[in-house]
Amino acid sequence: MRILVTGGAGFLGSHLCEFLLAHGHKVICMDNLVTSKIENIEPLFKKDKFTFLKQDVTNYIHVDGHLDAVLHFASPASPQDYLKFPIPTLKVGSLGTHKALGLAKEKKATFMLASTSEVYGDPLINPQKEDYWGNVNPIGPRGVYDEAKRFAEAMTMAYHRYHKVPIRIVRIFNTYGPRMRRNDGRAVPNFVTQALKGNPITVYGKGTQTRSLCYVSDLILGIYKLLLSNINHPVNIGNPQEIKLIELAKIIKNLTISKSKIVYESLPIDDPKVRCPDIKVAKKYLKWHPKTDLKNGLSHTISYFKKEL
Ligand code: UDP
Repeated sequence: MRILVTGGAGFLGSHLCEFLLAHGHKVICMDNLVTSKIENIEPLFKKDKFTFLKQDVTNYIHVDGHLDAVLHFASPASPQDYLKFPIPTLKVGSLGTHKALGLAKEKKATFMLASTSEVYGDPLINPQKEDYWGNVNPIGPRGVYDEAKRFAEAMTMAYHRYHKVPIRIVRIFNTYGPRMRRNDGRAVPNFVTQALKGNPITVYGKGTQTRSLCYVSDLILGIYKLLLSNINHPVNIGNPQEIKLIELAKIIKNLTISKSKIVYESLPIDDPKVRCPDIKVAKKYLKWHPKTDLKNGLSHTISYFKKEL
């Protein structure tokens, strides 16, 4: 296949480009490098089947030649980033999704939207199934991301229903691994960097909020299986092993053999209290489930951050 990946230089995008190339596909990576890094894709430049276009997908997108798939992964994705770039976050989820859908329609390509567990907001049911509509504050600081992705899902379904564009919507739950930015503000890079430097490990709130962390290679395989499927509705991809943030901090402290103290800071506004994917759909229809154990995945991630520091 000849595949466009928007946001291809980001954490997930770069792993996706690498995976697709390794599976024999031609990859065009498009990115404006706002929250991503060219270093993430540097090793791919020597591959014949790889092309990079530095472009903001919020503007009109032009790609020469045919495309079999458009994978729309461009967006700031950490709470710190979308607080820093609220308007670009809204624009890439709305205008960028519209442009990417228009391109997919024009090229008769399959469109895949990188959606998010954030569409469930601060969920009132746990674990979250795909048919749960969510509990989102539209005007809170996280609303710029949550609502942009909810709009993106609505737009994707409309292109499917009205224009018959084949679509996939992957609802991505918390993912971690090499190539996360050390300073992106998320729990795993913060805790690992703080632990390695011997700085205080900052747990927000009481640390009783939960997340479910998926190792990046597991996630990418799930995404690929969804792309190859014919499922035209949202599918959760994530690891259902739910953990309290305080436990995560302790595991990382132990794995890094760190002397850091754990300190408590205030909880960000609208921080979801629980989050865990119900992955029955992915298990049944994609024959997919995550295989990487949290401690193994964290050990690989810690090795990566050690080299980065
Ligand atoms: N968190 C924390 N300390 C940090 C960074 C994050 O306790 O230094 C918490 C954050 O409040 C949230 C959870 O970790 O409850 C996961 O946050 P992250 O930013 O990784 O992703 P989110 O799931 O909120 O998008």
